[in-house]
Order: sequence, then C-alpha cells, then structure tokens
Amino acid sequence: ALEEIIPVAAQYDRTGEYPMPLIKRAWELGLLNAHIPESCGGLGLGSFEACLITEELAYGCTGVQTAMEANSLGQMPLIIAGNERQQRKYLGRMTEEPIMCAYCVTEPGAGSDVAGIQTRAERKGDEYIVNGQKMWITNGGKASWYFLLARTHPDPSAPASKAFTGFVVDADSPGIHVGRKELNMGQRCSDTRGIAFEDVRIPKDNVLLAEGAGFKIAMGAFDRTAPVAAGAVGLARRALDEATRYALQRKTFGKPIVEHQAVSFLLAEMAMKVELARLAYQRAAWEVDVGRRNTFMASIAKAFAADVIFGGSGFNCDFPVEKLMRDAKIYQVKGGCGPRGGGCGRGAAFEKWRTPSPS
Ligand SMILES: Cc1cc2nc3c(=O)[nH]c(=O)nc-3n(C[C@H](O)[C@H](O)[C@H](O)COP(=O)(O)OP(=O)(O)OC[C@H]3O[C@@H](n4cnc5c(N)ncnc54)[C@H](O)[C@@H]3O)c2cc1C
Repeated sequence: ALEEIIPVAAQYDRTGEYPMPLIKRAWELGLLNAHIPESCGGLGLGSFEACLITEELAYGCTGVQTAMEANSLGQMPLIIAGNERQQRKYLGRMTEEPIMCAYCVTEPGAGSDVAGIQTRAERKGDEYIVNGQKMWITNGGKASWYFLLARTHPDPSAPASKAFTGFVVDADSPGIHVGRKELNMGQRCSDTRGIAFEDVRIPKDNVLLAEGAGFKIAMGAFDRTAPVAAGAVGLARRALDEATRYALQRKTFGKPIVEHQAVSFLLAEMAMKVELARLAYQRAAWEVDVGRRNTFMASIAKAFAADVIFGGSGFNCDFPVEKLMRDAKIYQVKGGCGPRGGGCGRGAAFEKWRTPSPS
C-alpha cells in the first residue's frame, strides 16, 4: 500500500480511471480472492485474514481497495452455496487470471430493504428469464460474471425466505445492458454502475443451492466478508496518520499544534477509536471463522468504524485528508441500513440486542 498504492492514489482519484495495474499487482501477490477455497486454486483464507488485507489496502486508498474487494462480495455467495461445478468454473477462473466479478443485489427502488427488490426470474424449461434493473453495482462494468438476486416466487407476498433465488450470471449474456460509470463523490476509481436485465436467459444449472434460497445466501455473504468495517478502519488509520503529521508540523503561538492540549486530546480520541474499531471488526471476523453468526458484531463494527473516520476530517483541507473525507462518506451508506450484516449497523444491532438468541 505504501509503495504502490499511495503514490498513484491521487491520480486515480482525479481521473476516475479503473486501477487495473494495481489490481493485477495485488492478484500476483495473492492479495486478491483470498477467500477462494483451496479446492479451486485459492488461498482459502478466513474472514479474519481477509480483513487484515482489506485494512492495509484501504490505508493506501479505499477506492482502489473497493475495486479489489468487490470480488470478495461477489464470490462469497458461491463460496457459501455454490456446488463443486459452479465453484470450479467461476471461482477457479479467478485464480488463473485477474478477472473481476460483482454482487448484483441493490435496485433503484430497494437498497437497505433487500426484500423489496423487484427484478424477476421466471422459470421456462431448463432456463430462467430475467427482467429488471440493478443499481450501484461495484465492478458493474468490469465484471466477467455477477451474483444476481432475483424474485422467483409468483406470490408477491411470499416471505423473503422463499421469494428470492440467487444466480451466477455471465456478464456477456445477451440482454444485459451495463449503464454509464457513476460519478461518485469519493472512491472515484471504483467502477459503480446500473445494470439492466432484459429477457436474460440463465441456465437452471446456475441457480445457487435451490430456488427460494437466495435471500439467505445474499445476506450470508455480508456476514462472511465483513470488509466494510475493515476498510473503514484502514481509512481511519490513514486519517489519523495524516492528522498527526500535520499536527506535528503546523505551528501556532510558537509551538506545534500537537502541543496544544485540545489538539492532542483530539488525536488521542482518534487513536482510541481506531483501535476499538479494529477490535470490533476483528471480533466480528473471528466469530464467523469459528462458525458463529456474527450479524450483531459485524453491525457494531460497521456503525462504529464508519463514524470514527470523521475524527480526522476536520483537521485540514490539504489534499490527502480532503480525499479521505470524500472516500469515507460511503461507509455510512454501503451495505444499507436495514437488519443485515453489512448494513449501517444501528438497526440490526438494536434488533439483535432486543432479541438475544437463546445461546
Ligand atoms: C458507491 C456504491 C457502491 C455500491 N456497491 C454495491 C454493490 O456492489 N452491490 C450492491 O448490491 N449494492 C451496492 N451498493 C448499494 C448500497 O448497498 C445501497 O446504497 C445501500 O444498501 C443503501 O440503499 P439505498 O441507497 O437504496 O438507500 P435506502 O435504503 O433507501 O436508505 C435511504 C436513507 O434512509 C435511511 N434508512 C433506511 N432504512 C432505515 C432504517 N431501517 N432505519 C433508519 N434509517 C433508515 C438510510 O440510512 C438512508 O439515509 C453500492 C452503493 C454505493 C453508493
């Protein structure tokens, strides 16, 4: 991150160019696709290790890290629920060449409330015909394949646990229309797009697990990846370092501002919060690695880490911190606000606290 990402991060932020050379480099070093099982040629790392990689990449630039990490979210439904053939075909390819995938769930009318999605997949013989519109898809224009969540139950009032199906879809399937790259406030080199599905035919062999199992798979992917909080911590740590550097250099009233107690208190607060946010995401990652549900801890980590970042933003308006501030804003949005693992966290954390599990 220090040697390869930071020197070019400002340029990617300015141009919005997709950071393919950095992605290739990370792939060569084994920093990409860390979750892919060893049976498919991957490293088979757990959530904890993957989060450590995320934090370090995010320290360099969260735009670059998001472009890289969207792969983890796209892959996770296959890792959780794909059969051997699906895993070998779609995950195996990613260990042979640096290609991208995407997690295709959000729609113009449904983000936090995933159960509100309207994209439909209708079974016709050995295929499903998909129609609908997805929005805000990271790697949307770069992915070779998508994880797609679509409504398959004919009854609109069917519960989420039965209404949706998860698919793996080749990005070059006829009828897929990729929209323009969205011009985002931060993380500008990451590729975010809308994707329209118009009579797209998906073979039934590309269904993950079974018809009706999609909602659980899509939500489970959030709990298993937890990169949102880890990314936020990387950014917060960078903000703390930039703020500390500035506070040591900048002098007022005859001394570096770090020697004014109000400023050193601010830095101390930031340092404490960065450390606590890291503990929170590490606990969430560990929970999932030992086989426990981590929605509660992942939600706390996400909510806490997203807000920690802002401690650094008020410090100065020089370039690095200003970029960090723009890049940081997404952490309060990404993953949504509803009761889901990667969400903003507060809603899900509160629900879990109110209704603790019997264990
Ligand atoms: C840059 C970027 C990249 C993204 N990448 C992907 C991707 O790769 N794949 C994908 O599927 N999606 C992706 N998303 C979508 C992202 O997950 C959604 O934006 C997020 O779920 C929020 O949904 P929404 O934008 O529809 O806002 P809404 O859910 O409509 O929320 C609107 C507002 O209401 C608040 N709110 C919502 N529900 C509650 C509640 N229960 N209690 C209190 N307040 C609430 C929210 O905090 C927010 O302020 C991305 C989004 C962005 C901006």
